Amino acid sequence: MLNVIPLPATPSLPRRTAVRLALPLLVASTSVGPAAPLASQDDDYWQQEVHYTIEAALDEEAGQLEGAGTMVYRNRSPDAIDEVFFHLHLNAFRPNSIWATVEQREHLDFQSLGEEEHGFERLASMTMNGVALDPQYPFAPDSTVVRFALPEAIASGGEATFAFEWTARPATLCRRQCRQGRSWDFAHWYPRIAPYDHAGWQGHPLYPQGEFYGEYGVYDVTLDLAEDQVVGATGAVLEGDPGWRPSPWSPLPEVPWQRDWYTPREPVSPGRFTGEAAAGRKRVRFYSEDTHHFAWSTSPDYRYEATWAGDVAIHVLYRPEDLDWDAGAAAGRTIRAIQWLEGVFGPYPYPQLTNLHRLDGGGTEFPMVIMDGSPSQGLITHETAHQWAMGIFGSNEWKDAWLDEGMASFLTTWFTEEVTGVSGWPATVANVARIEAQGGTGVPIGTVSEEMPGFGAYGFLAYQKPSVVLYMLRELVGTETMREGLRIYAERKSFEHVVEADLRSAIEAAHGEDLGWFFEQWIHTTATLDWAVTAASTRQEGDGWATTMTLERRGEAWMPVTVRAGGVEVLVDDRSPIVTVDLRSSERPSEVVLDPETVLLDVDRSNNRAEVAGG
Ligand SMILES: [Zn+2]
Repeated sequence: MLNVIPLPATPSLPRRTAVRLALPLLVASTSVGPAAPLASQDDDYWQQEVHYTIEAALDEEAGQLEGAGTMVYRNRSPDAIDEVFFHLHLNAFRPNSIWATVEQREHLDFQSLGEEEHGFERLASMTMNGVALDPQYPFAPDSTVVRFALPEAIASGGEATFAFEWTARPATLCRRQCRQGRSWDFAHWYPRIAPYDHAGWQGHPLYPQGEFYGEYGVYDVTLDLAEDQVVGATGAVLEGDPGWRPSPWSPLPEVPWQRDWYTPREPVSPGRFTGEAAAGRKRVRFYSEDTHHFAWSTSPDYRYEATWAGDVAIHVLYRPEDLDWDAGAAAGRTIRAIQWLEGVFGPYPYPQLTNLHRLDGGGTEFPMVIMDGSPSQGLITHETAHQWAMGIFGSNEWKDAWLDEGMASFLTTWFTEEVTGVSGWPATVANVARIEAQGGTGVPIGTVSEEMPGFGAYGFLAYQKPSVVLYMLRELVGTETMREGLRIYAERKSFEHVVEADLRSAIEAAHGEDLGWFFEQWIHTTATLDWAVTAASTRQEGDGWATTMTLERRGEAWMPVTVRAGGVEVLVDDRSPIVTVDLRSSERPSEVVLDPETVLLDVDRSNNRAEVAGG
């Protein structure tokens, strides 16, 4: 996502305004975080499987959604499951939630929202295999996590059917989700089972820092809406009319329906909808596989445009006044983003991508849906990158925010560099290095999100610094090797939960060498890098010049460093704290420059340059 988290401005994200970074001025010491897992999970990897069937009606007069659902839960873990946790994320946007308490310290006040204004997600019932379950709210008064003790355990390899009824409503204050008049952004809205993974239940209250992690499976969702509503959602439209009528400026005059993309698996109907929709209403059925979330947005005001990116349908929903979205502008940028990303990871594996103009600013990613506050190329690319780094590679955002936000930021700057020919890297690297030089945030990138010291630190540790770390990795292994490593990552880990070791082993597979030192140093420590040139002299030898220089490594971190002198570049790959380098050139060097392309997170560049004496 990309919204109110304050980030330093980056050239690659032009719509992002320059914001203050309120970083605590901690002592620049090296602290070591939890060690990275040594090996990929591949050998004993498993994940749970879900099959949701939901029937939900939006009652605009009552101002709420009324839903019923079933969720078939297949226990692929080696453990017997005797409790389950569901997320009720809309309850974050009401008074006394953890989100509201945390966010109040910033600038949005969910604490003061009145009875008619706040969001909610109220469970009316929950059963397992027909037996009623009692809710417990372990983080009360926060109610974004609900726990149920099960009457009988779900054996390893077994399955259970959960059935639930609930009502839900977004808040009138926009943050991710929102409602205004007849426009509704259902970013979160249904009881979403928490992941159960190798570390156990991940029933984690919803914080503004670190949000997405889910179980893969089928989402079969039928929405009952007023007839004039126009809706965008995860999945392909199997049945019904989402209200898509291509505007006269649509790049494609027809709707790419893709109704036959999926052969739906047998739904377990919650039995709420029988017969036809009532007069003045309609039902629209969306269906997806290999997704871990379902989001939707609806408004009778939406204008619609359609196009293709290869065989991926692009649906764009925008507002009547959006002159910067229409006539294929947003659609074209979405095509550019998805096709460039396909060049990195391989084909986009879903039938469609919907880019819609939400009520809130910024942007947030959901499988097959990006909700954007603007049509800027930087924002669209960032959110589309999340289709992979979050949607297809299901990372745990509150544990490893950098695997999704850092990766999306890295890919966006890389996209801009390749597509426009203008590199934003030197400015981005220098900006991150400047913050590092001032002491950074005091904690490593691999810190659990809510233990990061504030939103500014989260923006730095989840987005900016890891994007630079991934750029250093790309320059270390080479651009084509990085591309190959990311393709391997997609080949191995699509539709699975990912951890750092999965990314690392994929890049190592392409690179052919161990990269443990790199990930340990940059992800799990606050070590800083400072290469300095302390002496340089040259003498004529034959028809050229022999230059000798002394380099000092003053930070605790290490990276190979490029040295340029006399029109010649050498890569110094020596881990000693003091290194003597000999360089031959045909012209007499006037100066020595370390890291001339500004690739390294070098906290003091003032000592990267020296006059050459002698000759
Ligand atoms: Zn993001």
